[in-house]
Amino acid sequence: MRNGWRRRTASGARAGVGIALLAAVFLGQSASAAVQADAEAAAKRFVVVLDAAHGGSDPGATLGAVGDEAETLEKNVTLSMSQRLRALLVARGFTVIETRESDVALDEDARATVVNQAQAQACIVLHASEAGSGVHLFVSSLPPMQPQAMVPWKTAQALRVESSLKLGNTLNSAFTSTGRDGESIEPIPVTLGRTTLPGIDSMICPAVAVEIAPLRDKEGKVVSEVTDADYQAHVLNALAAALLVWRSEAGEP
Ligand SMILES: [Zn+2]
Repeated sequence: MRNGWRRRTASGARAGVGIALLAAVFLGQSASAAVQADAEAAAKRFVVVLDAAHGGSDPGATLGAVGDEAETLEKNVTLSMSQRLRALLVARGFTVIETRESDVALDEDARATVVNQAQAQACIVLHASEAGSGVHLFVSSLPPMQPQAMVPWKTAQALRVESSLKLGNTLNSAFTSTGRDGESIEPIPVTLGRTTLPGIDSMICPAVAVEIAPLRDKEGKVVSEVTDADYQAHVLNALAAALLVWRSEAGEP
């Protein structure tokens, strides 16, 4: 119940030798300098992985009937949202990696492999649903684990689950914020949950699954479908704003 999180069930001979040796030493030095420069560049980058759930032969859920049939398939909504969020984040100086950039099927291990090779500072898994209202945030239900030599692949997220909860809280604040600098932003209702997440459970990265559901009124009637472009933009802007906060909290520029 802490922070409102609820559990849900559910990567010339002698002279020639001398020159060759010299060249080898020189090349060796420049190679190690390059490795060091790469490491420094990687440390400066703030990497976000976007994981558009489903794809290819796995369409995911069928969503609200706005637009043509293809637009109502979850796999297409998540891919479109991933691509648009990427653009928002790149414009803000993030390094963004998408697990998929087209309509392809990816298994959970392939997704986790991308995330773990990226050494990302945040991973957002995008889902969409016709059930519920607003945005559902899910963090792995694995208990936290201290760093150790051998970490089982299927439960590696246990190393980062506390950071994932913090990331979830940062996202929650952005969705429920009513705006800054006098601008009026309609808050989006958020449901926080913890559950077994096969993809995320293998990810060594602060990771949150973000499931966008329709906006509903008090009677449960749909006010904005998941496929509504303005509603999606509102959700994506809130995600980008939250990741800016997340980056600044990490002490990055
Ligand atoms: Zn889904």
